[in-house]
Amino acid sequence: MKNIKNTKMELSQETMNVGFIKKVEALSGSSVRRCFQCGKCSAGCPMRSFMDHPPNRIVRLIQLGQWERVLAGRSIWYCASCETCSTRCPNKVDLAAIMDALRKLSWDADGPSKESYVQLANKLFINNIKQYGRQYEMRLAAVFNVKSGQFLKDLMLGPKLLSKGKLKMFHSKNKNLAEIEKIFSRIEEMRKKGDAP
Ligand code: SF4
Ligand code: SF4
Repeated sequence: MKNIKNTKMELSQETMNVGFIKKVEALSGSSVRRCFQCGKCSAGCPMRSFMDHPPNRIVRLIQLGQWERVLAGRSIWYCASCETCSTRCPNKVDLAAIMDALRKLSWDADGPSKESYVQLANKLFINNIKQYGRQYEMRLAAVFNVKSGQFLKDLMLGPKLLSKGKLKMFHSKNKNLAEIEKIFSRIEEMRKKGDAP
């Protein structure tokens, strides 16, 4: 006979799993539960060899409540959003949209991913756009190296890119920065109302 303590643990785990599946389905607009593991998505995925879990296994892990393994892995970051999987699925599971939703959930979980450098790069990229109204590559690379603790990363590339005019030491702010700030404010308002992820 199961003891009461264990039953409670199982129930709360199950509730969490259903909650996670619902979140993924709401964000992606696609069913996760409909997948019957035919494997057609993984057979056509061009990024499959770089992933730790192939696309069909990503769906299966979510169905089984093992979403922490999904968020901690690299597959969601190597997905190129090519939509081959979504096109091939006989069950209309939109795996490309599910991958997008998982990246978003990983972002919100603030760094459970082994590929958290990707998150760091994305955050710095967006911050630059907010502050400068454009991308500032030199700043992006410098701050990334400091925050990731890889101080010498790509250091020798800098002078080459500078000499070819591909990189600038200083950037002025976009003259339409006020318009860009309005876009970010609008997105924030939409988020608060639940109209944007
Ligand atoms: S193709 Fe669709 S049904 Fe088949 S494994 Fe992939 S997601 Fe599941
Ligand atoms: S969208 Fe992502 S998971 Fe789907 S086939 Fe393309 S790379 Fe693979």
